[in-house]
Amino acid sequence: MRRPAIPLEIPDSRPNLPESVKTFGILMTTAQKETMGFQSEAKQLLHLMIHSLYSNKEIFLRELVSNANDAIDKRRFAALSDATLLEEGVELGINIDVDEEANTITVTDNGIGMTRDEAVSHLGTIAKSGTAQFLDSLTGDQKKDAQLIGQFGVGFYSSFIVADEVTVESRSATAGADEGVRWRSAGEAEFDVETITRDEIGTSVTLHLKSDEAEFASGWRLRSIVKKYADHVAVPVRMLEQATEEGAEPDYDVVNTAKALWTRSRNDVSEDEYKEFYKLVSHDFADPLIWSHNRVEGKLEYTSLLYIPAKAPFDLYHRESPRGLKLYVQRVFIMDEAEQFLPLYLRFVRGVVDSSDLSLNVSREILQKDPTIDSMRSALTKRVLDMIEKLASDEEQYQAFWDEFGQVLKEGPAEDFGNREKIAGLLRFATTISEGAVQNQSLAGYVGRMKPEQDKIYYVAAENYHTAANSPHLEIFRKKGIEVLLLHDRIDEWLVSHLAEFDGKAFQDVARGELDLGDLEDSDDKAEQEKVEETYKGLVEKIRELLSDSVSDVRMTHRLTDSPACLVVSEDDMGMQMRRVLESAGQAVPESKRIFELNPGHPLVQKLNDEPDMDRFNDLAMVLYDQSMLAEGSQLDEPANYVSRLNKLLLELSA
Ligand code: ADP
Ligand code: MG
Repeated sequence: MRRPAIPLEIPDSRPNLPESVKTFGILMTTAQKETMGFQSEAKQLLHLMIHSLYSNKEIFLRELVSNANDAIDKRRFAALSDATLLEEGVELGINIDVDEEANTITVTDNGIGMTRDEAVSHLGTIAKSGTAQFLDSLTGDQKKDAQLIGQFGVGFYSSFIVADEVTVESRSATAGADEGVRWRSAGEAEFDVETITRDEIGTSVTLHLKSDEAEFASGWRLRSIVKKYADHVAVPVRMLEQATEEGAEPDYDVVNTAKALWTRSRNDVSEDEYKEFYKLVSHDFADPLIWSHNRVEGKLEYTSLLYIPAKAPFDLYHRESPRGLKLYVQRVFIMDEAEQFLPLYLRFVRGVVDSSDLSLNVSREILQKDPTIDSMRSALTKRVLDMIEKLASDEEQYQAFWDEFGQVLKEGPAEDFGNREKIAGLLRFATTISEGAVQNQSLAGYVGRMKPEQDKIYYVAAENYHTAANSPHLEIFRKKGIEVLLLHDRIDEWLVSHLAEFDGKAFQDVARGELDLGDLEDSDDKAEQEKVEETYKGLVEKIRELLSDSVSDVRMTHRLTDSPACLVVSEDDMGMQMRRVLESAGQAVPESKRIFELNPGHPLVQKLNDEPDMDRFNDLAMVLYDQSMLAEGSQLDEPANYVSRLNKLLLELSA
């Protein structure tokens, strides 16, 4: 949910900046004041923020403190490779000042700071991928949108929930005292920037409160909010002393615990502290679903604190969107979004990992090659899977998790072969016994309900739940009371092909190959089938001829009870649903013909068998073929022909 970490050397670190703004940036190396427009997405977000987050006003402070904390982390990190960026003796921290008279709050940090160009780019645009789609997805319903914005991460703009003017003054650690910047906006369409002189490196953000938000301009009130939101921030947050002796100048005192939360022992951290810390690292509004805090000692030494959010972030499916953990090495922040510590299918996990073994100048490139990372990755993966298993012990809670992240977890078996079985145990599907489309049946549950003679896990795959649930291929299974998985997520067929089996039982597509119910069929069934084949030999021959361009074979089947006909793929062909997914992704899929199967028990098939008129025979056979395409959700090649044939037959009916 966060922006990619900002590069510290900055010739042009503004990837998504509109050309016009870039040009402005160059003009503005003069001290003169410029007025600029917010990027249109930023404008939209600002507007929403102001209008839909009323019940969550206090969070502006968490966001400002979080930004200050990030900036301090970045300065400390930058100083690892360039000591001049942090002189000895400088104590890094955050000050919060309140001016009741002026009705302002100021949050000051001595972190990395911003140049004029950076202020324009970072505070005037939103560089998150998928922002435009996200904004399009908003409903206009303020309550719902407030929730969505929480998942998007509100950040700096949340200041405008309580402020009618925000002033940011900053000086980058790489800039001189006369290269400071003042950025100011009333939260409407525009902001001003000008170059200023600033003695201290770092940033101060001043909120001028709206007249009806004056309650926040109280030292007492603010202290309690700081305590609530910033206690576990690892740097000191200071405020002026409340009560001082007569005539004495008030001094700053540290309001928070200022100890990195993950370094504390589990027993010393309260639920609320864990929850607040989650909000700080994830930028989420809502409480997390579950977390796991562990210290590993031995060959490798590290601490991890991993969280599973309650809601999926808006950009979960953007491949390029940031993911991963915050990496610290011996408490020193190293990077955001260290993605090497967890597999892609667990990209929804948030949290921190603090290693004692890695070097302080570790880079992404090094992380990719370091073998110690591999063993940390597999241990952390296991922790997350254990956490999910724990969630699964409460059905209702697990359903909430599954609805948010199930689709992503389904990527697991393909990506993480070693944990295939563990993941398979966590999967949930709709089946012929579920009510509606809800995916709530486990494979273990399915296997437990299998018939004594059953040795396969049967499934049908379709574009959507309704088509799957009404597939003609299910008819014989319904008749025999055999449960079938109804796969209707795009990824499902692919998933099943990677699972291959569960608990020693192979997966079997009910729309593939000759119907083979194994021991579920008795010898009477088989004798009956042979008789049927004999009786309808002539019919099958005729239809084979008629459809020779469209299908690879025609045969009688006993898999149908209600439908007259259906199509099946042959044993080694790609499943239909997989084919559709690949085709819609623009991939070339090899041409393959299917097998047309007819139900001997259906009156239309008998009618066809008795039809002496060749024209009518052809029309009826073609209609049955087209219907079997329609029933599985496929498109007809020539829908108009279907309609005219059907109408011809209908007219004959009434004649
Ligand atoms: P996020 O923190 O998720 O990146 P924000 O909207 O909170 O998003 O902040 C936007 C950007 O503005 C930050 O990424 C950072 O580059 C910059 N910024 C905000 N506050 C500060 C600060 N106190 N010091 C330095 N840079 C800051
Ligand atoms: Mg932020």
